[in-house]
Amino acid sequence: MKQTIKNIDIKNKKVIIRCDFNVPLKNGQITDDTRIVKSLPTIKYALENNARIILMSHLGRVKTEEDKVKNSLEPVAKRLSELLSKPVTFINETRGATLETAIAKMQPKDIILMQNTRYEDLNGKKESGCDMDLAQYWASLGDVFINDAFGTLHRAHASNVGISTYLPSAIGLLVEQELTALSYLFNPDKPFIIILGGAKVSDKIGLIENLVSKCDKILIGGGMAFTFLKAEGFNIGTSLLDEESLTFCKEIINANPNKIILPVDVICNNNYTDEKGTIKDITELKDQDMGLDIGPKTVNIFKNNLSTAKTILWNGPLGVYEFKNYIKGTNDVLTYLTKLKAKTVLGGGDIVAAASSCQVTDKLYHISTGGGATLEFLEGKELPGLKNIKEA
Ligand code: AMP
Repeated sequence: MKQTIKNIDIKNKKVIIRCDFNVPLKNGQITDDTRIVKSLPTIKYALENNARIILMSHLGRVKTEEDKVKNSLEPVAKRLSELLSKPVTFINETRGATLETAIAKMQPKDIILMQNTRYEDLNGKKESGCDMDLAQYWASLGDVFINDAFGTLHRAHASNVGISTYLPSAIGLLVEQELTALSYLFNPDKPFIIILGGAKVSDKIGLIENLVSKCDKILIGGGMAFTFLKAEGFNIGTSLLDEESLTFCKEIINANPNKIILPVDVICNNNYTDEKGTIKDITELKDQDMGLDIGPKTVNIFKNNLSTAKTILWNGPLGVYEFKNYIKGTNDVLTYLTKLKAKTVLGGGDIVAAASSCQVTDKLYHISTGGGATLEFLEGKELPGLKNIKEA
């Protein structure tokens, strides 16, 4: 395991913490503060150690001057201050005299949040392009660097890989928690069942290839199931097809007999709509049918397979969960998981959103905060954001 904030000396030091404050905003209001809440353990640990805390984060994409206004981190400073019950000074700059003076005046336990690191992308993509002059400048503002932004570990940016080139560095407690939970999946208690859904097979090929030999079953739903079903010779009507992945699907099914479990029924409509659909067996689909959720027989088959599991990984919803008529399959299986003793890890974006709207997140073992970073880690890739951080 990489060294964490607890393995390096931060007492009374100026500690730069790269957080993931990439929160959803509507008209300048934060609509979900989960990412801020998840950053609290590391910030509180730094406070307990009398550090002077300099926080950085990206927020959205900044390509034009107009993007700057809607992607300001100022609302985050306000919310963080409420959560910590102490002032958080927001500096509306990513570099320059105001920022430097504010840092020079900091006392132990003071907290500064600087403006969105991606403001630097307007000036030649300096943040996202990992400009090393910018990274060196940011590093010069502190003594120690802590990377607690799990969601950007798969990117080499100036504010993570860049700064860690120049300062003693460690991971924060959120990143530690993520790596511990996700690493467990490489050596899991068995039976280990993987549930996959979502739109495209191609996005999950790396994960399937890396974990297929470690798991007992892969239950496939969502849009991606139809490419597997087509590969098995079924008529999938107008359901989602990822043509380029057909060969992969055929090969993985043949190489792993009885391991890949596909839907036997679906809820379909004749176009992409939230109007109530019809339940059909997979053998009954006609040319105009579009499968938008898994059907009740499939839900039961999935439940049977999950009933004895000791470890479960789930990535991607089992239907178009954004539509009220096609969320049932995903919700039924999510609810079932909360009754099991298995360690369940939900990885990445859409399934986490589905779990939070179904209010089951606090009943499961681990909810990963990263989308791309979670997938790349599970694919077995080295995450660039960890490269410069020593092993403990
Ligand atoms: P992903 O990012 O690959 O996990 O895909 C998530 C998206 O897959 C969500 O927006 C879902 O609406 C979509 N999805 C899930 N099931 C289906 C389906 N049967 N047909 C079309 N889209 C689907």
